[in-house]
Amino acid sequence: MNLVLFGPPGSGKGTQSSLLCETYGLRHLSTGDAFRAAIRAGTPLGRDIKTRIEQGELVSDELTAQLVRGFVKQGLGEFRGYLFDGFPRTIPQVGLLDDILKEAGLAGVAVVNLDVPKDTLILRITGRRVCLDCKRTINVYFKAPSLPDQCDFRVCPFTQRVDDQPATVQERLRVYDEQTKPVLMEYELRGQLANIDGTGNVDSVFRRIKNALADFNMNAGEAAASPEG
Ligand code: AMP
Repeated sequence: MNLVLFGPPGSGKGTQSSLLCETYGLRHLSTGDAFRAAIRAGTPLGRDIKTRIEQGELVSDELTAQLVRGFVKQGLGEFRGYLFDGFPRTIPQVGLLDDILKEAGLAGVAVVNLDVPKDTLILRITGRRVCLDCKRTINVYFKAPSLPDQCDFRVCPFTQRVDDQPATVQERLRVYDEQTKPVLMEYELRGQLANIDGTGNVDSVFRRIKNALADFNMNAGEAAASPEG
């Protein structure tokens, strides 16, 4: 099974990706995480894309496709499929993913869209803080740390992603509406889309996704998507 986890910034793709990969044995690619890692490492790619990411704009389709193609070329190894998190994000990227999967001899993807209202997204993103040491993420609006701006586990400072600051969040949501939302329509027309209510706690959202995937695979006549165990 190959999956695309789709949704606006702040819809919970990162959290649900971890659960999905663990349950279904999928190999995870978050294009956003990979781009941030390239920036931190100061690679030529990182230098090229830093400003665009910090301003909330999309990286070019060409550079994004190179990243995804390189990832898929490494193969599946022990994994049972791929989970693409944050890709495709434009209509041309839909075609690029089709090509990349075809080149690798893989079947099409099931697309799970996490639907979350805009005011919730804004709270989730602007309240998000990441611990530089243990990498845990918290939301200062939903669960305040005991010491202001310090991680409860390691007592070291939290940081906020540059692109999580309020002005950039507005731009990311605008870019999502303009360039990314049309991708949903395309997958809906192809019958590859499951829309999921992305509100509520992590476990309930995950349960909804699993149910949708079970339906999806029954309709597609596939047996391969049942979780292990
Ligand atoms: P994310 O962590 O998924 O919100 O991604 C953070 C940023 O990385 C986005 O705002 C874009 O600048 C860039 N990015 C991630 N995925 C893509 C993609 N598929 N196409 C273009 N830019 C992307």
